[in-house]
Amino acid sequence: MKIRSVLSAAVLAVATTFAASQAFAQETFTLRLAETWGPNFPIFGDATKNMAAMAEKMSDGRLRIRIDSANKHKAPFGVFDMVKAGQYDMGHSASYYWKGKVPNTLFFTSMPFGMTALEQYAWFYYGDGMDLMQEVYEPHNLMSFPGGNTGIQMGGWFRKEIKSVDDLQGLKMRIPGFAGEVFAEVGVSPTNIAPGELYTALERNTIDAAEWVGPALDLRLGFQQIADYYYTGWHEPATELQFLVNKKVWEKLPADLQEILRISMRTAAYDMLIESQHENAKAWASIKQEHPDVQIKTFPKEVFHAMYEANQKLLNEAAAGDELASKIVESQEDYLEMSRAYTDISERAYLNTMAEVE
Ligand code: CA
Repeated sequence: MKIRSVLSAAVLAVATTFAASQAFAQETFTLRLAETWGPNFPIFGDATKNMAAMAEKMSDGRLRIRIDSANKHKAPFGVFDMVKAGQYDMGHSASYYWKGKVPNTLFFTSMPFGMTALEQYAWFYYGDGMDLMQEVYEPHNLMSFPGGNTGIQMGGWFRKEIKSVDDLQGLKMRIPGFAGEVFAEVGVSPTNIAPGELYTALERNTIDAAEWVGPALDLRLGFQQIADYYYTGWHEPATELQFLVNKKVWEKLPADLQEILRISMRTAAYDMLIESQHENAKAWASIKQEHPDVQIKTFPKEVFHAMYEANQKLLNEAAAGDELASKIVESQEDYLEMSRAYTDISERAYLNTMAEVE
């Protein structure tokens, strides 16, 4: 009798816990996400769709993410503000777009002459990257997570070959961000033009050169039809997009859904890097085939030296004015130095070897 009553108490306890967890399990969350990109934007848009699909599946439908593209919310560069204010729960964009608002957001996308995607992911997840990024976003009621990497971006399409620093004087180029500032230091006149107008601007000589992303996305804009010189990259060696989450919304999620969201974002980010490699390789094969006049060029050493110096000067200026900026620049420089020494004897050594035997 005694044993039975202990057992039935235990059964009751288990049943109560089960009922409670069932009630908990049935609670569903629908988060609204605003992305900077238009609807069905290739590669970048796939990252948000993949993330949302994974989160919904892993949570058995308890976590749903509804994506609004730029045509819906009409504010591609308002994502930071909308998520901060709670108009949206999440965002998908790029951290460096907010540098005019919060200068230290600049550092979490890609820096000229900075880390490769592999090195930068290592810095984010195993170095200080995530903590530093959170330190920048925390005061704005936001959490920021890596949101997908383009891999190294190409240096842009030029209608004339660049043979010296002199050739850069007065050159009108679409190149946004910190790289634009670096180019300005060596004589270029940088502008930022919306992607939809880029082809016409280059075709009509409103600009002399334009950088966008890499073969997969550039091919769709048609630059290969009007510019013969396609330069290799230096300015965005590992462009990382960003998932933003409103911090109060994050805190309302149960721990298991937080983890599901975290893993969905991380997996979708990594997947975008692989998709970028695949799509760029395919697109480059087609450019080579269909537009044999396109030549791959690398800027002359003299140009690189001038840009490298300009970059260091601008970085020092940024670090001098702000304690957190200085901490981030130092962390990135230290990590790059350590990580690159290993990259040199691994990836670089292998690629050099292959170049010798092929
Ligand atoms: Ca770019």
